[in-house]
Formats: sequence, C-alpha cells, structure tokens
Amino acid sequence: MKKTIISPSPIAPCRFECTPAPSVFPRTVTPCRNNARENGWCEHHEYAARLLERARSYGCPRLEIVTTYTRYDMATHKEVNEQFVWEIGRGVDAWIAVCERVTPEHARKIEAVLEWECSGLFGKKSKVA
Ligand SMILES: [Zn+2]
Repeated sequence: MKKTIISPSPIAPCRFECTPAPSVFPRTVTPCRNNARENGWCEHHEYAARLLERARSYGCPRLEIVTTYTRYDMATHKEVNEQFVWEIGRGVDAWIAVCERVTPEHARKIEAVLEWECSGLFGKKSKVA
C-alpha cells in the first residue's frame, strides 16, 4: 500500500540528530527542530555540513581517528584516560551517518585528521623513516 506523505511546510527540518547528554536516559535521539537551509542543515549545524563537504572533496575516504576520553572507574574511584580508535567507513553514507550526530568538538578533530591524511600538505607519514 502506498502512503502519500504531505509535508506541512515547504521548509524541511535540519537533518541533524541530537543525542542527549551522557547522563540523560533514555538515550533517545531526537531530530533537530530547526529549519534547514538549502544545503539540508540549519545554521546551528553548519559545521556538520562543512565537515561533510570536506569529506566529499576527498572522496569520502575511510578514516581512523584516535580519540582519548576520561572515564570514572568505579572500582578504583579514579578518573582513567582511555584511548579508542574510531573508524569512519568509506563512502558518503558512512560520512553522512557521522555528520548527522557529530559534536562541534569531534567535527574539528575529524576535519584535522582528514586534512592530515588526505590533503597531501603534510606529506605521507610513511616517508618518515
Ligand atoms: Zn540543525
């Protein structure tokens, strides 16, 4: 059965999905309620659009981002710094999935890694030997 979806407004909402703060439960993702501009993103999430544009200009490559974060260890009652490798898959779909939820802080980090890996301005890391 076909459903016809009639948009109530000619202005589409921003495609960004807001994740709640780490302490908030349930961890329900809510769509951004702002009106999107022509590029599909609202003014507030322009940084996500910019990151996606940047990734597209490099052909949406696979990227590994090493991130450190601090967690509170319940057993020792100490803050522990941990590292994990975050992988973004190759292709525009993988990048869109990231950009739809990325925080400004992470967007900056991802963009830096992207420039480092893809722009060629910094040379190849493998040359350093
Ligand atoms: Zn938005």
